[in-house]
Amino acid sequence: MDRAIYSKATGKNKLTPITSEWMHSLMKSHHLIAGLISEHGSPINLHHLPSFQKNIEDYAKVFEDFALDAQIFFARKANKSKTLARAALDAGIGVDTASFKELQQALDAGGQKDSLVLTAAIKNQELIRLALENDVLIIIDNFDELKLVDTHATALGKKCFVGVRLSGFHYNKEKLYSRFGFDIDRDLDELKNWFKKHNPTTNLELNGFHFHLDGYSIEQRGASALQSMKIISEFQQLGHDIRYLDIGGGILMNYLESKNEWEDFQESLRQSVAGKNGPITFRNNGLGYRISEDTKKVVGNLETYPYYNEINSSQFLKAVLEYSDEQDRSVADHLKKLKIQVRIEPGRSLLNQVGVTIAKVAHRKQDAQGNWLVALEMNISQLKSSSADFLLDPFVMYRDGSDSPEEIDLYFTGAYCLEQDVILKRKLTFPKLPAVGDFIVFINTAGYMMHFYETEAHLFELSKNLCIPNSKDRFEYSDISEDDTLNQSIVAIPLR
Ligand SMILES: *Cc1c(COP(=O)(O)O)cnc(C)c1O
Repeated sequence: MDRAIYSKATGKNKLTPITSEWMHSLMKSHHLIAGLISEHGSPINLHHLPSFQKNIEDYAKVFEDFALDAQIFFARKANKSKTLARAALDAGIGVDTASFKELQQALDAGGQKDSLVLTAAIKNQELIRLALENDVLIIIDNFDELKLVDTHATALGKKCFVGVRLSGFHYNKEKLYSRFGFDIDRDLDELKNWFKKHNPTTNLELNGFHFHLDGYSIEQRGASALQSMKIISEFQQLGHDIRYLDIGGGILMNYLESKNEWEDFQESLRQSVAGKNGPITFRNNGLGYRISEDTKKVVGNLETYPYYNEINSSQFLKAVLEYSDEQDRSVADHLKKLKIQVRIEPGRSLLNQVGVTIAKVAHRKQDAQGNWLVALEMNISQLKSSSADFLLDPFVMYRDGSDSPEEIDLYFTGAYCLEQDVILKRKLTFPKLPAVGDFIVFINTAGYMMHFYETEAHLFELSKNLCIPNSKDRFEYSDISEDDTLNQSIVAIPLR
C-alpha cells in the first residue's frame, strides 16, 4: 500500500500558493515522480498545457467583451520550452521572440509572418536576415537598427513591415525612464523625417507602434497607451497605414491565496530584521529591508515580485483598456476610433498555473547554529528570478507517510559551491524532516523561475522540461512527454 503523503509548508509564516488540480494529482503519484526523476535527473520542470490554453482563452475573452480587434503574442523568453511556443501557435495566438534561436524555433513550430514578432533588444545581421527572409515583423528600437534593417531589406529585395518601440512616456508629472525604444519627446520628428525621406525608396514600411514598460502599473500602461495613440494619429495623418498598438507584457499575476498571509509575512520579516524575533530567512536576509544606520529603524522595501495581487491577469488587462483620458474616453474607445488592433505580449501571466519544478532530497544536516539544511539535487539557478526570493511555500512529497511528533524548521540548499546557494531564502516549517529521496515541489515556476537564470556552472546538466498535453484526474507515465519529443500538434481549444 502506498502510504506516501504530501504537505505544504506549515507553521507561523505561511505563504500558501494557489495550486491547481493537476499539481495535486502529480503530488499524489510518488511512483510517477520517482520514475520521471530517475529517467531525467533532478530537478524536472513539468508544464501543463491545458492551463496555458485556459490563460489564452481568458485574455481572448476580455478583448471579445470590449469588441476589440486584438492579438496576443506569448513572450517566449519567460520559458524555454518549445512545446509552449507550439501550443501558443496552435491556440491561434502569436509568439514574441527575442533572439535568433527563439525566432528560429518559433518558425520551425509553424510560426508565420502574422503570428510572430521580433522584439529582441539586440538584433545582429543574422537575426535581421532571418526575420526578413520570413517576413516577420521587426520592432525597431533605435536609429542604427532602423538603418541596418533597411540595408538588409534592400539587399534582399524585401518589402518589410516594421513597428517602432516608444518610450519616455509621462505619468504623474514624471517621465518614465527606459533604456529601450525611441523617446517620444526627442525622436519623433526625426522618425517622421526618416520615414518621409525614405518612404518612396525604402523597403521599410511603418505599420505600428509598440511599448513595453518596466514594472506593473495599470495607470502607467493606460497613460502610455493614450500617449501612443496621439502619436499614431499624427502618423496616420502623415499617410502611414498604422494598424496596431502593441502594449507589451508586464500583466500582473497572483501567486498567493491569502492577503493576510502576505501582509503578516512582511511584518514578521521587518520584526526579524529589527531583531525583535528570530530570523525567518537564511542569515536574517532582509530581502530588501534593512536597519537604517541613523535611525536604527527598519527601512527599505521588499525587493521581490509582488506575489499577492487582487487585480491580476484578465482584470488587469481590463483595467488598462478602461483607463481614460480627461474627456473620459478610454484606451478601448481610442483604439476603436483609430481603427487599430491592440496587441499584448504577456509572458509570465500566460504561464500562471502552468508549471512546477520538482527536485530530489540528497541529504540533510544541521549547521553549527542548529539550523536544518535539506540539500536538493538542484542549484539556485534553477529557481531564480530577478527578485530577492521566490515567496511561495513549496510542498514535500514524503515517501513514508507516518506521523512525526513535532514540526521542523529548515532551509533548502543547492549544489553550487556558493554559501548563497540556498534555494529559497525563507525558513520553512514542515510536519517532519524530509527523508533522503523525498521530493520537493515548487509551485507555479513556469514564468521565468525555472529558466531565465539557469546556468551550467560545475557543468551540471540543465533541468529537463516535460509536458502534460491533456487534462486527466490521474497521470500515467505515458501522459508525460519530453519537450523535444512532443512534435505532434497539441490539440488546442480553438479560439473564437
Ligand atoms: C519581457 C517582455 C515581455 C513579457 O513580459 P511579462 O512581464 O513576462 O509579461 C513582453 N514584451 C517585451 C518587449 C519584453 O521585453
